Amino acid sequence: MLEVAVLSGIGVCAGVTGGPLLRIAAAPALPAPVPVDDVEAEVQRAVAALAEVVADLSRRADRAADETVAEVLRAEALMADDEELRDAVREHVEGGADAPHAVDAAFGAFREMFAEAGGYLAERVADLDDLRDRAVAVLLGLPMPGVPQPGFPYVLAARDLAPADTADLDPEQVLALVTEIGGPTSHTAILARALGLPAVVACPGVLGVAEHTLVLVDGSTGRVEVGVSAASVAAAGALAEAAIDDNAEPGRTADGHAVKLLANVGSVKNVPAADQAHAEGIGLFRTELLFLDRTSEPTRDEQIGAYRDVFRAMAGRRVVIRTLDAGADKPLPFLKQEGEPNPALGIRGLRVARQRPDVLTTQLAAIAAAADDCGADVWVMAPMVSTLTEATAFAAAVHEAGLPKAGVMIEVPAAALRAADLLRAVDFLSIGTNDLSQYTFAADRMCGDLAELLDPWQPALLQLIAICGAAGRDTGKPVGVCGEAAADPLLAPVLAGLGVSSLSMSPRALPGVRAALGRYSYAECRRLADLAVAAPDAAAARKLMG
Ligand code: PEP
Ligand code: MG
Repeated sequence: MLEVAVLSGIGVCAGVTGGPLLRIAAAPALPAPVPVDDVEAEVQRAVAALAEVVADLSRRADRAADETVAEVLRAEALMADDEELRDAVREHVEGGADAPHAVDAAFGAFREMFAEAGGYLAERVADLDDLRDRAVAVLLGLPMPGVPQPGFPYVLAARDLAPADTADLDPEQVLALVTEIGGPTSHTAILARALGLPAVVACPGVLGVAEHTLVLVDGSTGRVEVGVSAASVAAAGALAEAAIDDNAEPGRTADGHAVKLLANVGSVKNVPAADQAHAEGIGLFRTELLFLDRTSEPTRDEQIGAYRDVFRAMAGRRVVIRTLDAGADKPLPFLKQEGEPNPALGIRGLRVARQRPDVLTTQLAAIAAAADDCGADVWVMAPMVSTLTEATAFAAAVHEAGLPKAGVMIEVPAAALRAADLLRAVDFLSIGTNDLSQYTFAADRMCGDLAELLDPWQPALLQLIAICGAAGRDTGKPVGVCGEAAADPLLAPVLAGLGVSSLSMSPRALPGVRAALGRYSYAECRRLADLAVAAPDAAAARKLMG
């Protein structure tokens, strides 16, 4: 009988799989310092190593099959191509350090600054460590550290994953990702979702597991079983196959209660994946992703082009397009927003229209022009709505632009509590559970240390969803979920039972959610929903699903 140990982390990309565990190649060790004779030559050696790292990352970005991966790699290359970093390296060499030690010290100082800043910057610490390791490896003439290529499928374990690692990551070989640190929004989580790999982050102890041990990873529950049998691994593989071998049936419970299964997209590039997963439409088109790197406002015509591409590709189906969700974790440079003491509580989402109503008017006009004659059923919604006044004004602006369907996102507890009121002003609601968790629990969604508060199984979050679902049932208007919670197959029956009429998610999550939903009758979903809301904590709520 095998002794199976269980490790727990945070599941960030759903799916169950298993295989032998391998760790990412170790970082190069720094040799003993050597005296520097020619300071200028040593500085140039260090600077050339940084340049080599930048060039390598840019080459990988160009080769990356996935645009999210490419963008992340380019961002990492930008971090290494930094004047302040080169100045810091020079200072350390002038202070007597050889090139590898100067590079190490310069990155070390930035690392400390980022870690102290917390939140988003703290989650970039893994990127800095990776850049340092790469530059040091170049200087020592060692191969750059990276992902193992053993020639057989395996579960990859790492302290955290740097974007550069994932460029070498072959989804045919890597079955799942498990990292010791990281949070729900760290690059590991973002990239795992983009690649559709089951992933668990913040899983202490995973680096202590001996290489080649068989493990089972559950990217929904965050559970990692260590030392399992080959038969368990094979059974998990069969389950995953069943999920992939999906039919194109619309989403519904075992007894036929419909729950539309929709895809989240950022541009037309994501539409093929949505089609492949048989999405019934788009439940969240995040328009700001098109403009994240823009320093000038996109013109009306540019916007029409980008929106029309998606609408036309989805002819005959629903597309819920969201107006720009700028601010906080998604600053748009062209808006030139002032620094705010608490950006997540500041001018973001629809609130930007208070200062720049023209941006919203232009966008709605562009959406209306793109929607004209495109064949898709275009619905428009606003992010970060808190009050009936805001919802009413937004609906009026949408109708003024000639668009028939206006909705709002529920991301703020105030809006959830008043869902019935809001549904008098708008045609539909879409619950953004990522932000709704953040604002309900006063827990920064970028903060890995608070991840258990951001767990979508938190009964308080489910209670707010229940209020929205009840308002939807009473009025007969659609209430969807488009945050990450919608991608959790275990949660799908509970959300359906709470009154949610559509689930919108990363396309890769769709087959699992469809299969899970089909296992329960609607009456069972409602019973599970009541029990989950009444549960004392997230773990107890999740346990209801066995
Ligand atoms: C959300 O907050 O749940 C959501 C879907 O919006 P975003 O993740 O883009 O903020
Ligand atoms: Mg949001």
